[in-house]
Amino acid sequence: MVVGRGRPVYEGVAIGRIYVRTKEKELVDRKCSDIEKELKRFEEAKETARAELSALYDKTAAEIGEEQAAIIEVQSLFLEDLDYLEGIEAMIKSGSDAAFSVHEIGDAQASAFAALDDEYMKARATDVRDISDRLIRILTGADQGFRMDEPGIIVAEDLTPSETVALDKDKILAFVTRQGSSNSHTAILARVMNIPSLVLTDIDIDPSLNGKLMIVDGFSGNYYIEPDEKTLSEMKAKQKSAGEYKAGLEQYRGKESVSRKGRKVKLFANIGSPSDIKYVIDGDAEGIGLLRSEFLYLGRDDFPKEDELFEAYRTVLEAMNGKKTVIRTLDIGADKKVAYFNLDAEENPALGYRGIRICLTQKDIFRTQLRAIYRASAYGNAAIMFPMIISVGEVREIKAFCKEIQDELHAEGIKTGDVELGIMIETPAAAIISDQLAHEVDFFSVGTNDLTQYTLAIDRQNEKLDAFYDAHHPAIMRLLEMIASNAHQAGIWAGICGELAGDLSLTDEFLKMGYDELSVAPSRILELRKNVINSEV
Ligand code: PEP
Ligand code: MG
Repeated sequence: MVVGRGRPVYEGVAIGRIYVRTKEKELVDRKCSDIEKELKRFEEAKETARAELSALYDKTAAEIGEEQAAIIEVQSLFLEDLDYLEGIEAMIKSGSDAAFSVHEIGDAQASAFAALDDEYMKARATDVRDISDRLIRILTGADQGFRMDEPGIIVAEDLTPSETVALDKDKILAFVTRQGSSNSHTAILARVMNIPSLVLTDIDIDPSLNGKLMIVDGFSGNYYIEPDEKTLSEMKAKQKSAGEYKAGLEQYRGKESVSRKGRKVKLFANIGSPSDIKYVIDGDAEGIGLLRSEFLYLGRDDFPKEDELFEAYRTVLEAMNGKKTVIRTLDIGADKKVAYFNLDAEENPALGYRGIRICLTQKDIFRTQLRAIYRASAYGNAAIMFPMIISVGEVREIKAFCKEIQDELHAEGIKTGDVELGIMIETPAAAIISDQLAHEVDFFSVGTNDLTQYTLAIDRQNEKLDAFYDAHHPAIMRLLEMIASNAHQAGIWAGICGELAGDLSLTDEFLKMGYDELSVAPSRILELRKNVINSEV
């Protein structure tokens, strides 16, 4: 039995077989001696790519929408493109290895597309890179065989958002990664999906782990590979009691979240993508308090188009059926990097060019997102929230821009709904001037993850500082009290959407402070409601 440790990001016990998710191999021109055989391998790789793309098309259309699926269709067109194919075949005929030939020709074509003036043609650079990467993966076998035939535990160095999008979520029992942090995409996904997971583990990623039995204890942070009988039976018992505890929470489904003394609080959910909506419904959320819209921009190679964003927001709003859905505008930068934004490397990314700062200086990006949200607002109960605010001036500029967008849409004959405008309070500056800000907006939502990082001067991504990262610090508690009080004095509502909202040891405090809404991972809602209903506050 191998025993190791990591940082748990979601409680629970998972027992299952390991699926190792390896990184791509480095590409070298191995040269081929049998040209006919290499050409045949290339033919077969094209067939496999066609089949994969067709399956991915169906999955994307069902989970995300036809619009996004159309992007996948464009990629399959390259499998018929004579320039592309003949270039690769010519290189193979000159003795080069198939994967290397795909890489070279793909790269040359992508650079040629990228150099064109026409925006549509420029975007083809991404498509040719994507299809080339797929063919290379198939030819080198780097990812070949990564199929989950039965439910299992994914062990990986780290998982990028695009990798997680392609996974069959119904089959994942747990994630175990060497890298990541409590706020990494994998961790957020694990919480949304309700599966025990560990990040920052000491595990050796080796294909020989494939198929071995593993236990992930999301309570203690331990994992066990090929466990002995005693450990297995202890962990099965722990899993059973966790299951029973969860079943016991079912009695709180559909109940109003009100304390014994009659204090009401709305329990909303935090999500990243429209496909997470099923967890919101399963979790019995009373609304969505934080739709981290940047996930619609991650794991892809170019900006999403307005129609695509509109479809995504509309899907969520319609599924929420009149319940409030707070969409946070793009919060790219710092820990959430996206290549096509071409952001410069920064000395202090958390204090850098991120969130609203990008939106206010690259208004075309902001415009596309806001137009999509306002268009979708006609289909449900939408609210918009802006991240990383530090001043009244910013808020006024945002409000004027929102008005401009609405006028523009109305002039085009497009209807919009009534949309509340709110801000995240996640910088000390915003907390300190929350009395002034409260007169500018319809609501506040406190982002305690960043508010803690900036107030305590502790990088939230740096695991070495975990012992210092005290979200219960009296400075944070005072700020939280002040924010709620300033909101209420100005007659607006206040919520918390950072991780602290789900901290059960603080529920009474938050009720006392008068918070109107707590927004947490969907899987946390029933437990939080139990806490509220049993609270004496
Ligand atoms: C926060 O900072 O608390 C928050 C909710 O936003 P994010 O975690 O996405 O930065
Ligand atoms: Mg934040």
